[in-house]
Amino acid sequence: LIPRLVAVRASWIGPRLSLLIIRDVTEQERLDQMRTDFVANTSHELKTPVGAVSLLAEAIESAADDPAQVRAFATRIQAEAARLGQLTGRIMSLSRLQSADGLGGFEAVAIDEVVATSVEAHAVQAASAGVELTRGGDRGAWVRGDGQILIEAVGNLIANAIVYSPRGSRVGVGVRTEDGVVEISVADQGIGIDESDRERIFERFYRADEARSRRTGGTGLGLSIVKHATQRHGGEVRLWSRPGRGSTFTMRLPQIPAPEGDPHEGRRKK
Ligand code: ADP
Repeated sequence: LIPRLVAVRASWIGPRLSLLIIRDVTEQERLDQMRTDFVANTSHELKTPVGAVSLLAEAIESAADDPAQVRAFATRIQAEAARLGQLTGRIMSLSRLQSADGLGGFEAVAIDEVVATSVEAHAVQAASAGVELTRGGDRGAWVRGDGQILIEAVGNLIANAIVYSPRGSRVGVGVRTEDGVVEISVADQGIGIDESDRERIFERFYRADEARSRRTGGTGLGLSIVKHATQRHGGEVRLWSRPGRGSTFTMRLPQIPAPEGDPHEGRRKK
């Protein structure tokens, strides 16, 4: 149908414009393909936990007179439900990030709060993984944006840093401001990322270490959210990594002046 449409319209308006339309159709096809792939991948990812919940529910039914087994199955259902919740939450964040008006109105956001909130939210995960989570760097930086999605993005970097690190290692979250740019870095001493994977890990559902990602409840969407969130704020993500030594992900965002009466002004240090 599409080539026929192009041909008909091309005959109406002459050769130069018809070229434009052909390009347009190609872009449209690419977007359609991306959407189709996304739906297919998402359905595939959702099927696993849904299937598990269904099997576990059947198992509970047939183990009804063994309370210990019922409890064990119930715990696993909770874990699968948590996974489903995380997956749907991430799919919604991505779709918000990719729609023109999906984010709330941008406002002045204190990076100190973004970092503090996302570090605090991962304290328990870090402690149970035996990873020391630290925070440092410049204080008092502000950006224009959506605080919630920034907290989610920094949180995804911290969660990954913990998951892909050995016990006894350190994950550091740091802020640096320079020349109108705020850099938020999350550095780990973990497994690192092969050169050949460094571009692709930002793609939706791509996992460099498939088995580990699934075992640790990974969705393959975390970095995609980081990339899109940073880009929606007019910034970019940088990645340094050495396999076996560790990785540092850096979100670089345009800095804005602190708003009047900045409550963080008092505890700024440099
Ligand atoms: P996942 O939920 O699988 O972690 P992400 O999109 O967050 O999905 O990350 C994609 C892939 O990038 C991961 O599966 C992992 O292979 C790799 N990765 C992400 N962060 C790190 C890190 N800090 N160290 C090593 N590998 C990482």
